[in-house]
Amino acid sequence: DMTIAKYDPELSAAMEDEYRRQEDHVELIASENYVSPAVMEAQGSVLTNKYAEGYPGKRYYGGCEHVDKVEALAIERLKALFGAEYANVQPHSGSQANQAVYVSVLKPGDTILGMSLAHGGHLTHGASVNISGKLYNAVTYGLDENEVLNYAEVEQLAREHQPKMIVAGASAYALKIDWARMRQIADAVGAYLFVDMAHYAGLVAAGEYPNPVPFADFVTTTTHKTLRGPRGGVILSRAEHEKILNSAIFPCLQGGPLMHVIAAKAVAFKEAASPEFKTYQQQVKKNAQIMAETLIERGLRIVSGKTESHVFLLDLRAKQITGKDAEAALGRAHITVNKNAIPNDPEKPFVTSGIRIGTPAMTTRGFGDNEARELANLIADVLEAPQDDAVLARVAESVKGMCKRFPVYGQK
Ligand code: PLP
Repeated sequence: DMTIAKYDPELSAAMEDEYRRQEDHVELIASENYVSPAVMEAQGSVLTNKYAEGYPGKRYYGGCEHVDKVEALAIERLKALFGAEYANVQPHSGSQANQAVYVSVLKPGDTILGMSLAHGGHLTHGASVNISGKLYNAVTYGLDENEVLNYAEVEQLAREHQPKMIVAGASAYALKIDWARMRQIADAVGAYLFVDMAHYAGLVAAGEYPNPVPFADFVTTTTHKTLRGPRGGVILSRAEHEKILNSAIFPCLQGGPLMHVIAAKAVAFKEAASPEFKTYQQQVKKNAQIMAETLIERGLRIVSGKTESHVFLLDLRAKQITGKDAEAALGRAHITVNKNAIPNDPEKPFVTSGIRIGTPAMTTRGFGDNEARELANLIADVLEAPQDDAVLARVAESVKGMCKRFPVYGQK
């Protein structure tokens, strides 16, 4: 009976501190969430011991009869959740799911057209520092003068560069993406359409954001953001792509699947199909809208003017504070956000003029309309006086009070 606390007090202390931080700070990082105890139970189970290279019924190891059932459940639930013919639940991360899509149909040097990092895209959509930008010839699109995805630019760049694949999806874009329009553009140039719905997947599962599955050749998502499962990735597609996608994950990119994580994914997919999950996602969107409106009332600007999802970017220039300093000041007030470049940001990427605000985690802990309004006002208080210790202390006390009223996992 060797608990971590007894066996490894040094590590245990850091883990306890992180537990406390999650309880008494408000989490507004748009890509984070709090998983259920059932998801954690699966992830902390004996399934972590099992090697299962291959796929259900076709393994390279013995003793896989039970984990086969686990993976089959995860696959069936995921297909039903998004209406897909094919699903792969083995990617260790969103990045690896994306790499698998590229590897399955592209050759090094092929052209891809994705959203630029500076306008809200993800590193894996062709950024020069990522394998997607090193292996492939990446061309990027962005937002138009109204900070709406520039579909006309996508079409013009597609005609000019004839990409083999168009990548849609974003890490910091608040509005709905018109998947049908992206499909039309892809068809016009004979390109594959690949949608990375990592940020929106939970909303999509609940019918609260458009589902890209009917339009895209390939869809990937992480499982740990709005979808509220364990850290990991998945791939969805049509049945015809089963062979190339399965072999892209194993044996091309990965070895043995993480069966404990796949079990946790299965739990999360069951949760995501429940009526409570729909109610949850509706509140996620409502909280984001209320916070955006309240911050606008307090004199701040929202990139794209509004949000239609769980996330928005706050332009801080009106308050003469950088994203870096805002992140630090809010952190002292027990509010966790990340600095984020705004479109055409005059500041360097490590400084930025914006912060990204997301409501998935705060909504999981039970924050509703009133808390969203109160929290947005507290954020504005900090942004107006980031150097005022008295203000930061007052806001921190209010935030801690809110956190106490809405525990995540409760006292241990
Ligand atoms: N795709 C998008 C749109 C993301 O926002 C992210 C994560 O930030 C990823 C992919 C990568 O996921 P992971 O961190 O699991 O590799």
